[in-house]
Amino acid sequence: MNIDMKNIEALRELFAEPRKVVIVGHTNPDGDAIGSSLALAEVLTARGHKVACTLPNNYPYYLRWIPNSESIIIYRNDEEHITDKIIGEADVIVCADMNSLSRADALGEAVAKNSTAKRVLIDHHLFPSEGFDIVFSHPESSSTAFLMYTVIVALYGKEAVNEKIATQLYVGIMTDTGNFAFSHLTPELFEAVAALSATGIDIPQIYNNVYNSFTEGRARLFGYTINRKMKTLLGGKVAYMSLTEEEMRRFWFQQGDNEGFVNYPLSIKKMKMSAMFTAQQGFIRVSLRSRGDIDVDTFARRYFNGGGHKNAAGGKSFVSMEETIEHYIKSVNEYHEEGLV
Ligand code: 5GP
Ligand code: MN
Repeated sequence: MNIDMKNIEALRELFAEPRKVVIVGHTNPDGDAIGSSLALAEVLTARGHKVACTLPNNYPYYLRWIPNSESIIIYRNDEEHITDKIIGEADVIVCADMNSLSRADALGEAVAKNSTAKRVLIDHHLFPSEGFDIVFSHPESSSTAFLMYTVIVALYGKEAVNEKIATQLYVGIMTDTGNFAFSHLTPELFEAVAALSATGIDIPQIYNNVYNSFTEGRARLFGYTINRKMKTLLGGKVAYMSLTEEEMRRFWFQQGDNEGFVNYPLSIKKMKMSAMFTAQQGFIRVSLRSRGDIDVDTFARRYFNGGGHKNAAGGKSFVSMEETIEHYIKSVNEYHEEGLV
């Protein structure tokens, strides 16, 4: 991956003296947001900077083992408003795995209030927003963690990456590539993975910690969702699933339990696009996945006020589940008429 060496020099200059740094990730944080934030935090802390990681809301239980994850401040639970104070005092604010402050909701608004800190963006989503001083925007990177690895190595060399940092980065790479099954799998990525592996990380253990650590309720909810809730359109080329709060309660839902469900319809040979609608407090979370040329980033932008990547995107819906599904079916048909699915 070709990163801009001028940016590296700018970062080097920025971190030439001790800084107060805040690292911010997106709402509904995933392994990539957490892994890349914590890795950067570890690297900067080792060089004498004061670093805090903060996320808008909590992350799923099967990511709680990630080294240092317990140190992350969850903005929504921060009743004493420690985060606002830390953000207000920060010299540097790094946004990782998000292309705009709006992806961090209320936390993004808190960050926007600090107008003097240098703002750094390290991200792999399309269409980075304005307002950052140093921008690493690489949609061709399969994960922010791989980009973060590249930035860390360019700054401080491979020696800067120890086993702990390698574990944090590997989680991001593994989860965002679907354990090396999605697009953008380049030779450089595997070279990075080889270097991470050389630090002594336990790859099967990391896999087990993330993918074989669910509750019984999650397994049963998954079966229910695929068996009872998966509907298809356009002769089986497009799928959608939905979960209401009542259904989630029935299976002792814990945050993160539905993560990855949306990928499953794409295991059907002729399936091109899949959607998952999950009830949240006050809105419906929309998750979209596609194969090949079908562009769900555009679909999410156009119909669900969201975005993401070409083959994995998301958004929100503020009407009822029934209306959301109706809107989806209508949108899929429109997309189909334009030859886009
Ligand atoms: P997921 O379906 O796993 O929540 O998200 C898939 C991708 O879409 C991720 O890259 C995520 O950052 C992006 N995404 C999810 N929800 C939203 C949203 O509400 N707005 C935008 N712009 N991107 C989203
Ligand atoms: Mn990511």
